[in-house]
Amino acid sequence: MIPDFLKNKLLSQYGEEITTKIIEGYQNSRVVSLRINTIKSSKEEIITTLKDNNISYKDISWYDNALVVNTNEDTLRELDIYKEGKIYLQSLSSQLPPLFLNPQENEMILDMAAAPGGKTTEIAALSNNKAMITAIEKNKIRSERLQYNIDKQGAKKVTVLNTDARNLNEYFMFDKILLDAPCSGSGTITNNNFNNFDEDLVNRSIKFQISLLKEAIKHLKVGGELIYSTCSILKEENELVLSSILKEYSNIKIEHLDLTNYQDLPILPTTIEGTLCVCPTTYYEGFFVSKLTKTRE
Ligand code: SAM
Repeated sequence: MIPDFLKNKLLSQYGEEITTKIIEGYQNSRVVSLRINTIKSSKEEIITTLKDNNISYKDISWYDNALVVNTNEDTLRELDIYKEGKIYLQSLSSQLPPLFLNPQENEMILDMAAAPGGKTTEIAALSNNKAMITAIEKNKIRSERLQYNIDKQGAKKVTVLNTDARNLNEYFMFDKILLDAPCSGSGTITNNNFNNFDEDLVNRSIKFQISLLKEAIKHLKVGGELIYSTCSILKEENELVLSSILKEYSNIKIEHLDLTNYQDLPILPTTIEGTLCVCPTTYYEGFFVSKLTKTRE
């Protein structure tokens, strides 16, 4: 059963009709999806292997390297393409933020909350393995997992720092930053499993999100771009966090995401134009993505 506080938040944010849709999205399990790791493989190789193993798949209109597969994760883990890091098991929604970051060769990129590394390794692949990436993770065990995944996926030019991202040396400056922030996970609930989901988690997440965003702004070059994403669909963790930042920093602006290629996404309304919120469905985790730029010092 959905906790009352969450239902009330959703009702006041989205109204009755959309809240019903979200609650339906919470009831089911999610499809299995993967990202083709172009550092080590190609779509052709992965599709051939899936066919050889009688696994049917579905393309995704907005990303050539994302596939939905008609099998379970354990079966995929048995395949050599998984063992050799040629695919990464990754939800569709979580493949979105690196696409909007649009990493280029030789850019200095900070991934501020990086483990287990799905987005770090996607950023590496999107930049042809040529962006210089600093990937930070506070939790030691998770940072080891991050390093393992980076090595397994063949991502080069990535430095992992096991530290609190708020302790980064002030001289580090980046062209682009991804803050895939710790959050309540209100977008990721499946099978009506609301264990460990309470209001305190939402409130604690907001504090971390604001402090991490402030830190990100310190390390962003003028003209640089910052993607702020969460796997929450609550305004408190998304638009309201951004609004408090925009109020405090006159040199930070929202840059509208170009959603031309993303018309197939199940989109929720947002209160800040140019931001994206994905509705939880059987295909998609609920997810929020936004882009900020720094206009001057
Ligand atoms: N971006 C990751 C990916 O795509 O695989 C998922 C990141 S998860 C949403 C948030 C991560 O931030 C967690 O691994 C958490 O341990 C880490 N984290 C939380 N607070 C942090 C901090 N202050 N500094 C660095 N990492 C932090």
